Amino acid sequence: MSEAGQELISLLVPMYNEEAVLDLFFERVDAALAGVDCRWEFVCVNDGSRDATLARLVAHAAADPRIVIVDLTRNFGKEAALTAALDFATGDAVVPIDADLQDPPELIAAFIEKWREGYDVVYGVRRERQSDSPAKRVTARLFYNLFNRISDTKIPADVGDFRLMDRDVVEDIKRLPERNRFMKGLFAWVGYRHVGVEFTRTARAAGESSWNYWKLWNFAIEGITSFSAAPLKVWSYLGLFIAMLGCAFAAFLIVFALLGFVRVPGYASIMVAVLVLGGLQLMSLGLIGEYIGRLYMEAKQRPPYLVARVYGRGEPPQGRRRRVAPRLEA
Ligand code: UDP
Ligand code: MG
Repeated sequence: MSEAGQELISLLVPMYNEEAVLDLFFERVDAALAGVDCRWEFVCVNDGSRDATLARLVAHAAADPRIVIVDLTRNFGKEAALTAALDFATGDAVVPIDADLQDPPELIAAFIEKWREGYDVVYGVRRERQSDSPAKRVTARLFYNLFNRISDTKIPADVGDFRLMDRDVVEDIKRLPERNRFMKGLFAWVGYRHVGVEFTRTARAAGESSWNYWKLWNFAIEGITSFSAAPLKVWSYLGLFIAMLGCAFAAFLIVFALLGFVRVPGYASIMVAVLVLGGLQLMSLGLIGEYIGRLYMEAKQRPPYLVARVYGRGEPPQGRRRRVAPRLEA
């Protein structure tokens, strides 16, 4: 680590259609960081925005040498955008932060203080989620409970990507080769000395969230299947339980038939058995499909993102074309 005051901190900002909030973002971040004794770098990843995000970013970068823009070839999703930002960051510590100002940049000073005390990871803990709907709060709570029960890697509840990570931590995260990048899980998996700092998450400053419940659901499945095999294993126990019930019922039926009590053809019981078992089998098949799908994606070894151009950092103003991410050139 460099001497206090000389450390370079990289802010990692994934941006997807953020033209509405971009100017405000730089304004507020500048104001928040003015009093903090560090050097700064902004690694802004344009994640295939369809609005003027890139043009605005380039305009900012022209006036501010601290800004580096990594322009991806299309929308790869926030996790991939963050991965790109991590790969391009050069700071002694990095701070992933959302462009919509839901993560207060004023907190970064507190992160740095803890970091200087010797913590490797300092994460923001959302004090209350009043900016979220009750339904989102309940489902988020359920997700964290389930995840931490069935995964060996524990992720703290109400912690997002907003955090400070030391260079050592970043290097280790970069070594994780998986293509399905559930960042919160990867951040937790590497370990290190960590501490939380509380903050209140406000509503988006402008623009729209690109998440909906279907995306969140898929994100949750991604997280769980990337970090736990329990959903695969549960089926053998459920199957055993149902098979035992079936045996008990069969024994009961045989006795019943021998005693001459069987008069009605068993439509109801057969239908119940067929429907329940059919449903369970489809569910377990679907679950196995989730894992096989992930194995397939990993097996293809495609890079998590592709870079179209890099702006800033001494590159010509129109940017430099790069075919592949730096991690693949190594
Ligand atoms: N984001 C991104 N790629 C995407 C979706 C989102 O880079 O495909 C960025 C977005 O620009 C923002 C951050 O990820 O900086 C968080 O997105 P958003 O505010 O939509 O999510 P929410 O706060 O609702 O969880
Ligand atoms: Mg947001």
